Amino acid sequence: MSELNGKVAVVTGAARGIGAGIARRLADDGARVVVADLSEDAAAATAAEIVAAGGEATGFGSDVSDEASVASTVERIAAEWGGIDILVNNAGIIMDNLLFKMSVADWDAVMGVHLRGSFLWSRAAQTFMVERKWGRIVNLSSTSAYGSRGQANYAAAKAGIQGFTKTLAIELGPFGVNVNAIAPGFIATEMTRASATRMGMEWDDYVALYLPQIPARRVGEPADIANVVSFLVGEDSSYVTGQIIDVAGGPVH
Ligand code: NAP
Repeated sequence: MSELNGKVAVVTGAARGIGAGIARRLADDGARVVVADLSEDAAAATAAEIVAAGGEATGFGSDVSDEASVASTVERIAAEWGGIDILVNNAGIIMDNLLFKMSVADWDAVMGVHLRGSFLWSRAAQTFMVERKWGRIVNLSSTSAYGSRGQANYAAAKAGIQGFTKTLAIELGPFGVNVNAIAPGFIATEMTRASATRMGMEWDDYVALYLPQIPARRVGEPADIANVVSFLVGEDSSYVTGQIIDVAGGPVH
């Protein structure tokens, strides 16, 4: 067994994309992984892939923006897995529009998933972590936090996650709980594919538009984020907390 040695790791929004990459990596590192996502079937399918590859995982249907849904999922995890050691707040949505066309519903939906969701899951998970005097929380921010045309809601939510991360690091540090955030740049997932479609562009043309701005001259893959999560939840990063780590193939600001 590798470093995580049976610790229970919850990854939200983990049925696909970056979350699925993180779930696979943490299972490879030896964690018992809870794949949480809106659809229990989709979460179970990703968990089944992890199990087929030799890992330990289960899939739960859970809406991060819904207090009752988070509470009942945490109860299930406590009953079946004994608690939570590691939490990765990854679930995310985009509802892009220029400010003058942005609806209140689109603003609220984005805040609900990213900010309310990270708050609800972190508040629930820290109960176990503080009691155990050990825990790791990794939040998914974004380089969009530094300003992104057409994403006032998303940029505000992802910037909010950065302040949330630093505050939790201050509050939970004395209890052995480290809290950090990753701000990915362009990562190839259904989220970025949906952005290409929304702009009426073919995927290859969309990628070609961004490549000149990325010093590494490639777009990121979910594994690029999962590698950094693996570091942040392990012992080698035990003196790293309250940090925002850009993972974007270059400096961003
Ligand atoms: P993705 O492919 O769209 O996957 C997001 C997952 O989150 C989906 O499985 C989705 O489920 C789930 N989800 C959405 N709303 C949820 C809710 N209320 N409760 C639980 N799960 C929910 O996105 P991704 O690209 O992997 O992004 C993962 C995270 O990284 C997000 O926080 C995103 O903002 C952040 N990020 C991504 C990029 C990028 O370039 N891709 C860059 C910076 C930051 P459904 O399929 O059922 O909707």
